[in-house]
Amino acid sequence: MTSANANPSLHYADIHFDQQGTPESRLFDDIYFSRKDGVAESNYVFIHHNDLTTRFSQLADHEQFLIAETGFGSGLNFLLAADLFLRTAPKNAHLYFVSFEKYPLKYADLAKILSYWPQFQMLSELLLRQYPPLLPGLQRLHLHPQITLDLYFADVNEALPEWVERHKRTVHAWFLDGFAPQKNPQMWQPELFQAISVSMANQATLATFSATGDVRRGLIRAGLHIKKAPGFGKKREMLYGTIYKLGLPKNLPAESIAIIGDGIAAASLAYALKNSVKDITVFSAASGPAAGASGNPQGAVYPLLQAQWTPTADFFSHAHEYARQLYRSAAPSCWHETGVQQLSKTAAQHIKIRSIRARALYPSDIWLPQTRAQASQSASLELPSASLLLPKAGWVPAKTLVSELFEQVRKHRMALGRKFEQKFNCPITSIQEVGYTQNGVAGKPWALLTENNKYQADQVIIAGGERSASLLPQALVPIRPVRGQITQLSIPKDHPLNKLTQVLCHNGYITPATEGTCCIGATFDKSRHEAIFDAQDDKQNLNQLEKDFGFALPKQWIANSRASVRATTPDHLPLAGRAPRFANENLDEWPNLWILSGLGARGLTSAPLAAELIAAQVEALPLPATARIVDALKPIRFAERAAIRKQSIWVD
Ligand code: SAM
Repeated sequence: MTSANANPSLHYADIHFDQQGTPESRLFDDIYFSRKDGVAESNYVFIHHNDLTTRFSQLADHEQFLIAETGFGSGLNFLLAADLFLRTAPKNAHLYFVSFEKYPLKYADLAKILSYWPQFQMLSELLLRQYPPLLPGLQRLHLHPQITLDLYFADVNEALPEWVERHKRTVHAWFLDGFAPQKNPQMWQPELFQAISVSMANQATLATFSATGDVRRGLIRAGLHIKKAPGFGKKREMLYGTIYKLGLPKNLPAESIAIIGDGIAAASLAYALKNSVKDITVFSAASGPAAGASGNPQGAVYPLLQAQWTPTADFFSHAHEYARQLYRSAAPSCWHETGVQQLSKTAAQHIKIRSIRARALYPSDIWLPQTRAQASQSASLELPSASLLLPKAGWVPAKTLVSELFEQVRKHRMALGRKFEQKFNCPITSIQEVGYTQNGVAGKPWALLTENNKYQADQVIIAGGERSASLLPQALVPIRPVRGQITQLSIPKDHPLNKLTQVLCHNGYITPATEGTCCIGATFDKSRHEAIFDAQDDKQNLNQLEKDFGFALPKQWIANSRASVRATTPDHLPLAGRAPRFANENLDEWPNLWILSGLGARGLTSAPLAAELIAAQVEALPLPATARIVDALKPIRFAERAAIRKQSIWVD
């Protein structure tokens, strides 16, 4: 899945239920779990033979345990492992569970199957609540404070090798499931066993219900010590095993993290790092949260749909899912899942909709073409054209949301007894690498300089919007400041716009009114880089409203205006990852300097997933996105492309 227009063909499982209600795959002609006692069989094969009861109970406080699985199916193995973890592991330990699934179950089928197991009711409800749409790639679900589920919808034979590239020696236990090798021979390949082996940490274990000679030999050839055990019920045998590797060199001590910024990027980073054992300090030049582009009263959250499954479409689809789940759980009062409508007025837009439909790029729970009548009914307002409805999209009070996320982090860290400090009115003017030696170990932390002070941090994440590039020691990322102004309007009670229930977008946008006030915007001004108010911009916003949606409103209704500066990149994707550098004539990345910026006008949608991606790398935890997305966002991409083309980083 690394080409620019990878085909996202992904299909739901085609299943039927036998008389007892056991699900069977029509394609594979095999059952999902034992007809006799699915729970007992899974427990015996996967939980018992990975010795999970003992291993979970022996975890240290704050330790992570990673399980990987082929074939998520109904999630029975996951539920058993997660339930056991919650009962036996220390309260601050964390279970990561990544499962690769080629044919996800439909929501209704999954709900029916999960109802068979009342003992897992709490976890099943959490799973159903977040069960993702049919999008190819990896979707991270924070099901519980102690449990993260990464559902990777793809053929495991294709996805695992790329996943393993970034997760070598990380998996503690493997559940090798999937339909029987005789029914599903394509899956049980030597390459799969090799990839599994590379992913395993020292002393990691594996269990599988299968005992066929090919599987046994394949696993042994991949370096595992494999044993046979009696199979469950009438089955003769099963396999389980372990791997021994030399210990990894210890990482340098990295005790503290500095985040520079105060907007949605910085808040999302703090949130994603809230469980870190490292000290966290957030530095901001402003006097409070969301002083810049994240400080608008209302902002839309919606995916960027494209007519091809480009890395941009891929990233924004996943980022949108991730953001809405995060807002829903972390700041429920801020999340308004009203739906967003994109008016379709031009021939180009009609063609785009037709191609998306023809290629079946997005499942219908993400997008729904609407006739003009349907669009008007859905928005509770007479609209001038047909539209594309994004039913799971919505809006947030951006400024309040950012404050709320910081507040959640502060409370959480306090409960954990971990440091979290926000330093406002503290403008960092530059950062410099400083060397030190502690207990015989050399480290290279950063000095963060203000006019009068000097702070130190082992890891620095620059999330300062359009000012981010100026803090980097070398000018290797292109961030273009683009000024924008929104206008708030007071809508009289009896005006039809007061009834608008959804966000409308075309060239500009309008949000539903709250307490009689709605937002329209935003202007796009590349020529000015200061957040200065301009009365002309309000006029422009009103004109755009009339042009797009047919509402001519008097300027007396203007209640407020707000100008800010967005940080944009030439390819319209965020910068999220290690900062690039030139050292000894080579282009590479700083090991401990990160950047999250370039979020453009879509930071409310893209920041949470991009922040989770950086947090996972800083903490050496499983990544929340596919390699394709990680590569599309890495800040070094512009310098790499420029080096190949022998051009400036600003050309894309
Ligand atoms: N572990 C599941 C559970 O706990 O309910 C049961 C898994 S079921 C026996 C096998 C699963 O493997 C099915 O959901 C099937 O779609 C999936 N599968 C089969 N071939 C696959 C492949 N090549 N890549 C990913 N998943 C696959």
